Amino acid sequence: MSKRFSITFWATVFVSVVCLSLVGVDVWRSLNARGFQLLEMERLGANVARAMAQQADDTIKAADTALTDLVERIETDGQAAPALARVQRQMTAQVANLPQLVGLYVYDENGRWIVNSRGVLSQSYNNADREYFIYHRTHPERGPHVGDPVISRDTGKWIMPVSRRLNKADGSFGGVVLATLDIDYFRRFYQSFDVGARGAVALVGNNGVLMLRKPFDAERVGSSMRDSELYRHYARQAGGARAGSAFFQSLHDGEIRLHSFRPLEHYPLFVTAGISREEMLERWRRDTFTRSIGVVVLAALIGFFGKRLVDQIKLRALAEAELRKARDALESANRTLERQAMQDGLTGLANRRQFDVTLGNEFSRATRHEDTLAFIMIDVDYFKQYNDVYGHSAGDEVLRTVSKLIRALTPKRPGDLTARYGGEEIGILLPNTDVTGAQAVAERIRQAVAHMQMPHSGSPLAHVTLSAGVATISPKRGVHLAGMLVEAADKALYVAKSEGRNRVCVAQPE
Ligand code: GH3
Ligand code: MG
Ligand code: MG
Repeated sequence: MSKRFSITFWATVFVSVVCLSLVGVDVWRSLNARGFQLLEMERLGANVARAMAQQADDTIKAADTALTDLVERIETDGQAAPALARVQRQMTAQVANLPQLVGLYVYDENGRWIVNSRGVLSQSYNNADREYFIYHRTHPERGPHVGDPVISRDTGKWIMPVSRRLNKADGSFGGVVLATLDIDYFRRFYQSFDVGARGAVALVGNNGVLMLRKPFDAERVGSSMRDSELYRHYARQAGGARAGSAFFQSLHDGEIRLHSFRPLEHYPLFVTAGISREEMLERWRRDTFTRSIGVVVLAALIGFFGKRLVDQIKLRALAEAELRKARDALESANRTLERQAMQDGLTGLANRRQFDVTLGNEFSRATRHEDTLAFIMIDVDYFKQYNDVYGHSAGDEVLRTVSKLIRALTPKRPGDLTARYGGEEIGILLPNTDVTGAQAVAERIRQAVAHMQMPHSGSPLAHVTLSAGVATISPKRGVHLAGMLVEAADKALYVAKSEGRNRVCVAQPE
C-alpha cells in the first residue's frame, strides 16, 4: 500500500481527514444539541401544563365545594327567610374568602334569584336563558357543571360559571346554585409562567370553547376552537391518555408551537402550554452559528497549513529525486571513468595499468599457493612496415582484429587477463597454468591470425603474422620478482623474432 501511494498522497489524506472529521463532529454535535433542545422544550411544556391543570382543578374545586355545601343546606333547611338569611351570610363569607370567586347565586326553578352573595335581589335579572340553567333543568345529574365563559350581567366581567342542580323534595327540578369564577384570576396566575416571549398557554373546555389564553385576548374568550387542528388532535385522544404533546401551527399568528396538553382531573377542561419552536431553536441557532464559524475557520487554517506542508513535502520529494538522479548519473560516469582507466581505448583489452596490478596480485597468490604462473607476450611482425604501407589507421584496424581474435581464443578462468602491454604488444597472464598449456594457447592464437591471411605486402611472409614468447614461473618468496616473468617471456619473443618470426618460443627455465 504505502509503496503504491506517495508520502504526499498520505499527507493530503491526513489533512483532509482531519478537516472533514472536525466538520463532521461539529455537525453531529449540533444535531445532538438541537435534539436535546427540543426535548428540553417538551419537558418544559409538560411541566407548565401540569402546573396549570393542577391550579385550575384546585381553583374550581374550591368553588365547587362551596356549591355542594349550599345545595345540601338549602335542600335540608328549606327556603324560609331565616334559613336564606343564614345561607346569604355564608355565601358572602365564602366570596370574601376565595379570591377566584366573584359571586355565589341561587335561582329558583324559573331562573329568578332567591339569594346571592351580594345580598341585593334585583327582580329584573332572570337567568333562565343561561346555558347552565337550561342544562340543569334538562339533566337530572347532581354533579358539577362548568359552563362556557360569559360576561357577567351582574359585574360586567368575564366569568366562568360553575353550577349544580337544586332538587325539590320530590326530586323534581328546584333551581340552580351558581358560582362565578373570575377569569382574570386565572390570567394573573398564568402570567407567572415563563413559556418564552412567543409561547402561548390556554384553558379550554372539553367542548372546544376557549376560557382563557395567554397572551390575553378578550376577543377570543368564549370563542370556539373546535375547528383548530389543536382541538381536533386533543379530541381524538382517548379519555385517560389525553396528556401529550404535538406541534401545531397557530391559525392566529402563524407560529409553530410544541403544545403540551393536560386534562383537568375533575372537570371537563384541559390546558395546553405551547412553546414556540423558532424561539426555542433561536439560541441553538446562534450557538451553532458562532461555533460553526469557529470550526470552519479552524478547518480552513488546518487546510491552508496542511496544503503548505504537502507542498513542502512535494518539493522535498522532488529535490530528493533530482539528487538521486544526479547521484546515479555521477556513479555511472564514475564507473565509465573507472573502466576507462583500466581499459585500453583502441582494443577494449585491459590496459597496462590493470595488467601491472593484476600481475602483482597473481604473482603474490601464486607465491602463497606455490602455483605456476604463465605469461605469453605477443608481438605483430613487421608492424612498422604495415603502418608505412597501409597507413596508421589500417594498422589500428589490424590491432583491433587481432585483439578480438585473441580475446576469443584465451581461456576465461578467474585471474586470466589479456592486456595491451605496449604499442602492438599483447600480454596474456594465465595463473595456475603450466608451460604446455600456455604454449598451446599461444600456438592457437598464432595459427588463427596466420589463417586469416590478412595481406601485408611489406612483410616477407606476405600476410599479417605474429610471434609469441611464453614463460612460466613457480615463484618463491625472496627469490623471484614479477618482472622476471615478463622479462623471460620478452626474451623468448626475441628468440622467436630472430628465428624468423610467425612462431612461438618458450623461455628456457633457469
Ligand atoms: P618486428 O617484426 O621486429 O616486431 O618489427 P616491427 O616493425 O613490428 O618492430 P616493432 O615491434 O619494434 O615496431 C613497433 C611499431 O609498431 C612501431 C609503430 O609504428 C607501431 N605501432 C606501435 N603502436 C601502434 C599503434 O597503436 N597503432 C599503429 N598503427 N601502429 C603502432
Ligand atoms: Mg613491438
Ligand atoms: Mg612488431
